[in-house]
Amino acid sequence: MYLNELFSQKKAVVSFEIFPPKLTSSIDVIYDTIDALAPLRPDYISVTYGAGGSTTKTTVEIASIITNKYNINSLAHLTCFNSTQREIDEVLTDLANKNVRNILALRGDVPRDFEGDAGKKREYKYASNLTQYINDNYNFCLGGACYPEGHPECPNLDKDVENLKRKVKAGVSFLITQLFFDNEAFYRFKEKVDKLDIKAPIQAGIMPITNRKQIERIVELTNAKIPPKLIRILDKFEHNKEAIKDAGIAYATEQIIELLANDIDGIHIYTMNRPQVAKDLVRNLESLLYAVN
Ligand code: FAD
Repeated sequence: MYLNELFSQKKAVVSFEIFPPKLTSSIDVIYDTIDALAPLRPDYISVTYGAGGSTTKTTVEIASIITNKYNINSLAHLTCFNSTQREIDEVLTDLANKNVRNILALRGDVPRDFEGDAGKKREYKYASNLTQYINDNYNFCLGGACYPEGHPECPNLDKDVENLKRKVKAGVSFLITQLFFDNEAFYRFKEKVDKLDIKAPIQAGIMPITNRKQIERIVELTNAKIPPKLIRILDKFEHNKEAIKDAGIAYATEQIIELLANDIDGIHIYTMNRPQVAKDLVRNLESLLYAVN
């Protein structure tokens, strides 16, 4: 199914994100993760794409398994900054042949000292260039990334939202946010999006935290701020594995309840390939998700 159809049918779309196993592991380990997530009946499962294209084959393969073996909609992430048109064409043809209909069109994080292979012609500077190319030449439904607290490279949120408008104009039909821990940041972002008349539905990216190190690494990579309320939780429970996990799930549950009450278009759960965390979260939300849809 094309996911834009799903967004027009459902009030709140719920999806999970997983990542391919390490290149040194067998792809088979991903079955355990999908086996555990499938009974939760997500609207779709997305599969990340290794930085600079390091997991091309496995991302395509896992998206195909989700679609064809589990009969669940899949969304294959695809980054472009390091790719030639020919490389992108190969991935797109492979995805189309495997019946994967949805792509999250991304630029990818450009390493600071990136020079790339000499002589390699890169065609896509921004995700909007990739979006335009795919829409002009293929028949996929495209999603894009957005950043409630601003993309780290962009000087300010207003500029970032202007650039987001370009991406939507180029053909992205829905958006998934970078993770955030403060719903107020999302509401402020949404106001700016509405002001620019960006109509694409936006799913909130939520990550239940399970330990302090993980959250600190993520905050370093993204612009996500940790609100004082969450810092107090981390300070109090960081040394007890079970307690910090339970607190993280409770925090994410509270965030999602409030977002659903404010008519969010959907929730995208960063599972970190830990299905038990997704399971606990969905159990907390079951009646609410039923009530809104
Ligand atoms: P773009 O939309 O191209 O934006 C990048 C920067 O360029 C922004 O600062 C933007 O404001 C600016 N910009 C855009 N257009 C213009 C323009 N015309 N002129 C000037 N400036 C412009 N990374 C991976 O490697 N693999 C993944 O699987 C992956 N999945 C992700 C999933 C989600 C939901 C999110 C939020 C991020 C994901 N990322 C992933 C990270 C993402 O690749 C990085 O955040 C990357 O730095 C930006 O990608 P983008 O597609 O948002 O880029």
